Amino acid sequence: MNLIAFNANIRPIINFVTNFVAMDYPRVILKPGKEVPVLRFHPWIFSGAIASVSENLQDGAIVEVLGSNGKYLASGHFQDSSIAVKILTFERQPIDRQFWYKQVRKAYSLREGLNLVSNPDTNCYRLVHNEGDGMPGLIVDVYDSVAVLQAHSAGMYQARQDIAEAVMHIYGRKLSGIYDKSSESLFKNTGLRVQNGWLTGGSSDVIAAEHGCKFVVDIEGGQKTGFFLDQRENRKKAGFYARGRKVLNMFSYTGGFSVYALKSGAELVHSVDSSAPACKLAEKNAAINGFGGDRHLVFATDARHYLETMNQGEYDMIILDPPAFAKNTSSRHNAIRGYTSLNASAMKKIAAGGILFTFSCSQVVSREQFNAAVAAAAIESGRSVRVLEQLGQSGDHPINIFQPEGEYLKGLVLRVD
Ligand code: SAH
Repeated sequence: MNLIAFNANIRPIINFVTNFVAMDYPRVILKPGKEVPVLRFHPWIFSGAIASVSENLQDGAIVEVLGSNGKYLASGHFQDSSIAVKILTFERQPIDRQFWYKQVRKAYSLREGLNLVSNPDTNCYRLVHNEGDGMPGLIVDVYDSVAVLQAHSAGMYQARQDIAEAVMHIYGRKLSGIYDKSSESLFKNTGLRVQNGWLTGGSSDVIAAEHGCKFVVDIEGGQKTGFFLDQRENRKKAGFYARGRKVLNMFSYTGGFSVYALKSGAELVHSVDSSAPACKLAEKNAAINGFGGDRHLVFATDARHYLETMNQGEYDMIILDPPAFAKNTSSRHNAIRGYTSLNASAMKKIAAGGILFTFSCSQVVSREQFNAAVAAAAIESGRSVRVLEQLGQSGDHPINIFQPEGEYLKGLVLRVD
């Protein structure tokens, strides 16, 4: 039985039970025919699908979504934007402290199953990943004894205390504090201005461990929640290839890939990032893992400039992990061209027999589009290029199978001759 058929079979049972439980939430009523994606468990309601909403509906409100026939479909957070409702549940139930506890507990069990909780070699991981954990608009990352919460919607921001309470309850004394780092993400997504700060506890000097590598994480001043946890398994893989090679780590941030490469015996590693504070931490991170001196050099400069001015054949392994080139569909075309030109520059310069790790973290660029952009780069460079491996985000960034857009990190390991 396929998944869609399965959904169709269980949906009437859920409806039968949930239609008779009265809840006092404001309502969003869909236009006729617009129920279909919800019935297939897609977690977003677009504004164009909505026929009417309850009066005085505020951003962040918990709403019930009803079909045009008045039947209950789902509950979620409302926001006056193109994605008008982000769905939290398809079963009618109160969205209260108990709900958040259940959700966070499920997320925690998934990480336990990945051997990320109570693992001395890896004590940093994503505990909550948006739609992938049934909590759209919420990220919680754990760095040793500190958690960083980031709300991307007004609804999640309003729920932050209940969520923090659930996290503290589950971890107990293993966690010393939760830092709310929503100011940038919330402003970008909703226009709301809030301050970052500690929801509970407070100590931002964190040394995280990842596969036995140590990293100083600047949770307050660093990018995103402080570290790019989605690359954990890819950094390990890069370590495997780096042995004996001359490695260029482009867009190195705080030196994640560099430390793995040094640890596994790269001949030399050069880290390049335009952010000076990130470069300082990259140096520090190499040092606390026992690597300094000439084997690791850091360059605080523009990646493209560096690629253009370096010598051909200087490196036989290059890592390209740029920031998202496209934030929305209107910039997708330019982003794809950007991936082609960046990859073409690296392919032209890499030594024969070189290994290229290349990534895109743009959610709106699909894997097929990224692969096509890299293929175009291979043509432009005139080099012979083969795909050795296809990479994605680590398991603590799960993808909701009904929301393929959740697969945002795409990567390729290429051999360039
Ligand atoms: N690979 C890293 C994460 C990279 S995030 C890791 O494993 O941790 C992307 C990085 O690109 C950020 O650190 C950002 O400062 C850097 N960046 C953005 N634009 C850049 C540019 N034009 N040149 C060099 N670095 C850039």
